[in-house]
Amino acid sequence: MKLIIQKFGGTSVADHERRNLVVNKIRNAFKNDCFPVVVVSAIGRNGDPYATDTLINFAKSVGVEPNARELDLLMSCGEIISCVILSNTLKKNGYESKVFTGGQAGIITDNNYGNAEIIRVEPDNILSCIEKNIIPIIAGFQGITEDGNITTLGRGGSDVTAAIIGEAIDAEVVEIYTDVEGVMTADPKIVQDAKVLEAVYYDEVFQMAEYGAKVIHPKAVEIAMRSNIPLLIKSTLKESNGTLITNYDKYRKYGQGKIDKIVTSIAQIGNRTQFKVIFDGSARQYEKDTILFNIIAAEKISIDMINIFPDMKVFIVDGAKEAKLKNILESQGYNFEVISNCTKVTIIGNRMRGIPGVMAKMVEALNENNIEILQTSDSHTTISCLIKSDKTNIAINALHRKFELDKN
Ligand code: ADP
Ligand code: MG
Repeated sequence: MKLIIQKFGGTSVADHERRNLVVNKIRNAFKNDCFPVVVVSAIGRNGDPYATDTLINFAKSVGVEPNARELDLLMSCGEIISCVILSNTLKKNGYESKVFTGGQAGIITDNNYGNAEIIRVEPDNILSCIEKNIIPIIAGFQGITEDGNITTLGRGGSDVTAAIIGEAIDAEVVEIYTDVEGVMTADPKIVQDAKVLEAVYYDEVFQMAEYGAKVIHPKAVEIAMRSNIPLLIKSTLKESNGTLITNYDKYRKYGQGKIDKIVTSIAQIGNRTQFKVIFDGSARQYEKDTILFNIIAAEKISIDMINIFPDMKVFIVDGAKEAKLKNILESQGYNFEVISNCTKVTIIGNRMRGIPGVMAKMVEALNENNIEILQTSDSHTTISCLIKSDKTNIAINALHRKFELDKN
């Protein structure tokens, strides 16, 4: 029997009906001669009683900023509850299973609460559970430090749990079940006729995730890529093939379709703020200008889309950091301008490399819709434009049509 990982996201375990669909997926695994190791997220979305955001808001409702260690302890409960409920559902259906916290599953992390880094995995508990033919059900999104403190892996971290356990037990495939049919050409919540991609290469989907496509965590893609385990993104609700994420060789082995488009997908990250720090040429300013990025780094504010000109430095930050950075720059006497509520829209495609005219087409699509481009950045396989957030939907739909992503 082949070992596989089956990870179920928050909406996939939201109610009894959906948990029964999860049981079907587990049943199918056995039918296909596979032994599933299950990873689950917390039940539901913000507002649902045990969802991660509900727990965070509960802690914050006291009126003080919760301690990071304790907040992780609280958040980790969401996944544990989800595991126990699913385990009982499996029992009702005649399957024996055993629940593990991230720590019990052997996920050892550093103590960077809220966004812990995995140091190593000790999968002995999981392996001996499998040996006894008992289905392990692992709480996603969490680990434990060397000295026994519970940590969380950052939002979307259950995908990371699935990939890292998959690597540790040498799984045949990591199946990620979610509320969409697979990786799509754009976020289906924005583009109605977004198409499911039959297959995508690791590096391409990694870019998508890095540039904001929420469907999979970039770290999960990174882990799967380094251990060469295929990821399969599928719908819990529908029976369909989903999207296979793999390398070039495996793609040929598994995939039937062809990847021929120059641009394969569009992603976006909202709530960005643009800062323009202006250099007035004076000797006093010169000194400040040279240490600007050091000051920002010392405050642990990460910046992106950095463009440097002789008289100006332009970059973007997460909107949540806007007020803090404004205060710092003001107190240090910098001359700067700020544009809030921006979105970074990115077109992604491995075949873009060296093909002229892609940027021209992107600019054309945005111009045709009177969307002002505030800034751009690019790599070999991506082009990003910063625009005002209220134009996001128009921009992404226009780009989707321009690059014919709505056509097969
Ligand atoms: P889960 O709780 O199952 O992990 P997420 O909400 O994290 O689910 O991820 C699924 C969501 O990702 C979808 O509902 C969809 O709106 C969003 N999404 C964003 N970009 C894409 C894309 N390119 N393809 C598919 N889904 C996407
Ligand atoms: Mg997710």
